[in-house]
Amino acid sequence: MSFQIAIDGPAGAGKSTVAKLAASALGFLYVDTGAMYRAAALFLEERGTDMDDTAAMERDVQEASISLRLMDDGQHIFLDGEDVTGRIRTEKMGMLASRVSACAGVRKYLVRLQQEIAAEQDVVMDGRDIGTVVLPQAPLKIYLTASVEARAERRLLELREKGENPDPEKVRMDIEQRDYQDTHRKESPLRQAEDAVYLDTSDCTAEEAAQRILELYRERANGSI
Ligand code: C5P
Repeated sequence: MSFQIAIDGPAGAGKSTVAKLAASALGFLYVDTGAMYRAAALFLEERGTDMDDTAAMERDVQEASISLRLMDDGQHIFLDGEDVTGRIRTEKMGMLASRVSACAGVRKYLVRLQQEIAAEQDVVMDGRDIGTVVLPQAPLKIYLTASVEARAERRLLELREKGENPDPEKVRMDIEQRDYQDTHRKESPLRQAEDAVYLDTSDCTAEEAAQRILELYRERANGSI
């Protein structure tokens, strides 16, 4: 049976960096479900689907072929055979993904895909509803978070590294807006699973957080033998 580590938390908490570190230390596959929502958003936008029409979104998303592939420089996401890894990493796509992800039909389609991936191999999967909806039986669940200030600071650095010149106040407001949307939506809102371990990364590095996850993994894996 495959082992699953579920990591949930708000935007900018460092989930993907921490999840990647833990996955690579364990030899597990890292599954970035946020990237899948972003790819679905890109697909629907390019297709011209009315984002206020949930029936149209549910119908159209079924035609999106979304896959993850591990390449030499990390994980890439493909949409209908095209590598869209770079195109989905913008603030605009993050906001659009948040909007699209409120649609139950879109979620149903992507959750099934995520469950299929996790059934076949050991995974570290990150997102908003992994411990609560996608993999409720996961033996290790983490709720990874950090203060809004720490998250805004990290996002700023990330954007500057990409050569952008972001407005700090706008970055902070985007994070707060996304938190609000993700925690208040009707469908699978972001929340900590009852059996998830709470990890606040405001004052620790990604390496330290990943180390803690590895310790917890060893405890759980030993306990289940
Ligand atoms: O994690 P990332 O910022 O890439 O996710 C983009 C958006 O996709 C989130 O703001 C959230 O609304 C949505 N999402 C989700 N469920 C997941 C992963 C992401 O609703 N499992």
